[in-house]
Amino acid sequence: RVRGVERRFDTATGSTLALQSTDLDVAENDFVTILGPSGCGKSTLLRIVAGLDHPTAGEVLLGGQAIGGPGADRGMVFQSPTLFPWRSVRGNVELALKLRGVPRAERRAEAERLLQLVGLGSAMDRRTYELSGGMQQRCGIARALAGGPDLLVLDEAVSALDVVVQDEILTLLQRLQRDRGLTCLFITHNLALVQRMASRVAVMQGGRLVETASAVEFFKGPAHPHSRELLNAVPSYPQPIVP
Ligand code: ADP
Repeated sequence: RVRGVERRFDTATGSTLALQSTDLDVAENDFVTILGPSGCGKSTLLRIVAGLDHPTAGEVLLGGQAIGGPGADRGMVFQSPTLFPWRSVRGNVELALKLRGVPRAERRAEAERLLQLVGLGSAMDRRTYELSGGMQQRCGIARALAGGPDLLVLDEAVSALDVVVQDEILTLLQRLQRDRGLTCLFITHNLALVQRMASRVAVMQGGRLVETASAVEFFKGPAHPHSRELLNAVPSYPQPIVP
């Protein structure tokens, strides 16, 4: 639950209100996509939910508890996974497990289990710079799953990948969501991805959340003019949607 969250950035060149009194409820096992133009506050909201940034007002609750900072209950996946090149694939996931408090004796087996889960079982000993973009993102997802989070927060997680690899990663996320009951909060500009993956859509504009709707309602005809603009910007939409 995001409750009255505001984020103001004060810099030498002035003050920016990146997020204005934002409320958002995400239910267990939801896949919520956040849509909106560049600079509207999407990443700021995600970073606050992940605990990587702090709101200047309001709070974020997970399972009824206010979050303080990053925690093993949330994993974050970025557009570019920024893996450590001097560590092996396994080593990157082991480090995440260490940071999340998993005892040393359990780390290796757990890293291997997570890497099997994301389809990197045969690449565990490789250096991360030897991997393709899609494999690196799989490693980023394995790392985000370290510690068994309830919520995955994904910022443009497939935008840098070609369509075939995007499809593989989205299929992986669907499987994880189904099998592990994961809840996902996902930033994207890609309406086809929203149509395929989202259970709910949150639309932002100028630091405000202007509409939240089920994906079915959104594609049928969203209420807010800005949401309609977003849909109309892609002439091939709306297409029939399979609920
Ligand atoms: P989006 O993800 O929708 O593109 P962001 O959340 O990155 O938007 O940014 C929202 C606004 O906050 C922008 O005006 C951006 O310049 C500003 N902003 C984001 N992070 C910082 C920061 N660390 N310092 C100053 N301004 C920032």
